[in-house]
Amino acid sequence: MPQIIVTWHTRRDDKVCPICQALEGQTFILEGQEPQLIYNGVVVWTISQGSDAHGNHSNSCRCTLDFDFNFDDLLEPVKRLHDRFCSGEKLEEPTQI
Ligand SMILES: [Zn+2]
Ligand SMILES: [Zn+2]
Repeated sequence: MPQIIVTWHTRRDDKVCPICQALEGQTFILEGQEPQLIYNGVVVWTISQGSDAHGNHSNSCRCTLDFDFNFDDLLEPVKRLHDRFCSGEKLEEPTQI
């Protein structure tokens, strides 16, 4: 799985709480099956639930996240696959990348 690079953005108004304010403009690199964003030891965002900055998935967070993907770690497996394919090797099983 490629790395996910997340940047946190608040609405930048006076209703933004201190937790979200502290996250404003912060960039995080997420990896793994269930990417989650941890700030000061607290899970503030998960890929399935969205922002949990206020706890218990209260949906009161108005912040948005920008997602960027780092495919650098996919280059090597794709190159290996390409080289195997071009060398005429028969690919019987789908190759995990
Ligand atoms: Zn907040
Ligand atoms: Zn928020």
